[in-house]
Amino acid sequence: MDFKFTEEQLALRKEFEDFFREVMTKEAPPGWEAGLESTYATEEGWNFHRSMAKRLGEKGWLSRPWPKEYGGQNAPIIEQLLFSEVRGYCRAPGVDVFGIGMLAPTLLMWGTEEQKQKHLPPIAKGEIMWCQGWSEPDAGSDLASLTTRAVRDGDEYVINGQKIWTSGAHKADWCFMLARTDPEQPRHRGLSYFLMDMKAPGITVRPLISLEGSHLYNEVFFDDVRIPKENLVGEENRGWYITLMTMNFERSSVGGIMEMKRTIEEMVKFCHETKRNGEPLSKDPFVRHRLAQLAIDVEVGHALSYRVAWLQQKGEMAAYEASAAKVYASELAQRIAYTGCQILGLYGQVKKSKWAPFAGRFESAYQLSPGMNIAAGSSEIMRNIIAWRGLELPRA
Ligand SMILES: Cc1cc2nc3c(=O)[nH]c(=O)nc-3n(C[C@H](O)[C@H](O)[C@H](O)COP(=O)(O)OP(=O)(O)OC[C@H]3O[C@@H](n4cnc5c(N)ncnc54)[C@H](O)[C@@H]3O)c2cc1C
Repeated sequence: MDFKFTEEQLALRKEFEDFFREVMTKEAPPGWEAGLESTYATEEGWNFHRSMAKRLGEKGWLSRPWPKEYGGQNAPIIEQLLFSEVRGYCRAPGVDVFGIGMLAPTLLMWGTEEQKQKHLPPIAKGEIMWCQGWSEPDAGSDLASLTTRAVRDGDEYVINGQKIWTSGAHKADWCFMLARTDPEQPRHRGLSYFLMDMKAPGITVRPLISLEGSHLYNEVFFDDVRIPKENLVGEENRGWYITLMTMNFERSSVGGIMEMKRTIEEMVKFCHETKRNGEPLSKDPFVRHRLAQLAIDVEVGHALSYRVAWLQQKGEMAAYEASAAKVYASELAQRIAYTGCQILGLYGQVKKSKWAPFAGRFESAYQLSPGMNIAAGSSEIMRNIIAWRGLELPRA
């Protein structure tokens, strides 16, 4: 694995840095943080996310690795890694993790020409936001047991059922979703992958309020929702195999690690500047060792993410490596939140107050971070994949 960047790549990174630093300094709403809470919880945050998405789209930065005919520049994946790193470090919004991160690569591989022409340009321009309708009340880790039905009726499919935990469904324009088209087939073989307009009649979105009080997630109900047959991606009953690929796109992000790196840097600065019992926190052995360990952990996470990008650059799926990067990053985020609260003491429990250090970031993160060990595949499932595909242990 080669860690060196070319002169052109370093210049590109500088261009990203100059842009994001300026925009985030001048335009970010007060108290802006990275993550779902800032994006989905308030109108102000959502508007900032959307306006940033349009600007990134105008620059062509959302779709650089795509083929030219669909709004891309055929750029190497490594260049997109640099973009994600800088964006993550700057805590900048504007990238729809579902549209850009999951659906676009799926359509590029499996979509019809008509689907690509219709859906990819608005994603590349940052105009249309997506959500992911996979999980159901009785189908999460065991996704193939989902029961939402899609029944063919002439030129349409009629959808009935329910999804749950659908992040951002209350804001999204479109949803990519899985439904059962053939209940007679073995479980994995009867599923199909659809694109659904969230304004279609028969869709009801109900909020699921998260532990820390924000509206980020939803239940979505389908009552005779009609989807044109053109919105089936790939072949009918082959949705599971498309989904397996889409899962890997979801697990390979480096942005979160860079956001954590910045958080550690800010904690170090805070510990230099803040005194407890007459001494700077940075002299406390507990604090020093915790921060040192987290700094090591962030470097490990960074290397795991680079490995995924490097394998993907070579055209490999990186299935278990992506699982390793995901489980590592999400558990590290939890350790950082926990340590942050410990270092801040009682101040770590305060949010939306002048007494809240870091604008209450650790209070929120402490409550939201366990969910990240479940979202996009739980830590247990990630470890199962590493054991099975990476270590070639028997399948659980
Ligand atoms: C913050 C958050 C955001 C989400 N966003 C979305 C979204 O946008 N769209 C969407 O479709 N879904 C979303 N989800 C749902 C998520 O994908 C599921 O919650 C996840 O797949 C786990 O499914 P479950 O909740 O049904 O738990 P279960 O599958 O019931 O698991 C319960 C527990 O059993 C463990 N377990 C299950 N099977 C095994 C096994 N074979 N071996 C070992 N342990 C096992 C799990 O690890 C877990 O600890 C989100 C979830 C969260 C928490």
